[in-house]
Amino acid sequence: MENLDYIKENVRQLLQELPPGVELVAAAKQQTPEKILAAVEAGVKIIGENYVQEAVAAFQIIGHRVSWSYIGHLQKNKVKKAVEVFDQIETVDSVELAEEINKRCQVIGKIMPVLIEVNSGREQQKFGVFPEKVEELARAIIQFPNLKLSGLMTMGPFEGNPEEARPYFRETKRIFDYLRGLNLPGAEIKILSMGMTNSYRVAIEEGASRVRIGTKIFGPRL
Ligand SMILES: *Cc1c(COP(=O)(O)O)cnc(C)c1O
Repeated sequence: MENLDYIKENVRQLLQELPPGVELVAAAKQQTPEKILAAVEAGVKIIGENYVQEAVAAFQIIGHRVSWSYIGHLQKNKVKKAVEVFDQIETVDSVELAEEINKRCQVIGKIMPVLIEVNSGREQQKFGVFPEKVEELARAIIQFPNLKLSGLMTMGPFEGNPEEARPYFRETKRIFDYLRGLNLPGAEIKILSMGMTNSYRVAIEEGASRVRIGTKIFGPRL
């Protein structure tokens, strides 16, 4: 058996470091169920997965003792399976996707908490809605009875100096506060998911309530 103590140690360090009120999502893409389980045993409460099939495999071993958050780009043809496994979906970026999630949740009688993914850097190649489109999508989402609008998620730039991500996190926090102020009926805007291994400290300074961390828990992906 591979020694997975390093994962547990990484999780413990992170949980100590994060301020109260900031949730840790273990971003588990490409990790084996055993590694994810080690993170759970060390105190991880939320698993973030980008791939539905991977999540299904891990879920079979770990089950409902943690909450499962979808953080990848969700294709419509994967929604049916996704709503069975996941407890929340962080990456809603179109009315069509919201509609499909709502439809599939209706079939199985589930209310799905969802976040809107914001393309805060306005990068053409990235998913998410541009900042000025967030309110429109939020107002559409609250019309769907089986969705619960719960907040925003953003990626920010992947690499390089985390300071470069700061303005994008700040902009997303501004939209988050604006949305909360709208008091949209049926919404409960409380999750601001931003920051990864290289940027989570900056994201927390800018108001993240949730960070999604992979490399710093599991080591570099192969
Ligand atoms: C992989 C991933 C992360 C974590 O990235 P690390 O740099 O390994 O911490 C966070 N969010 C999303 C959406 C991801 O796909």
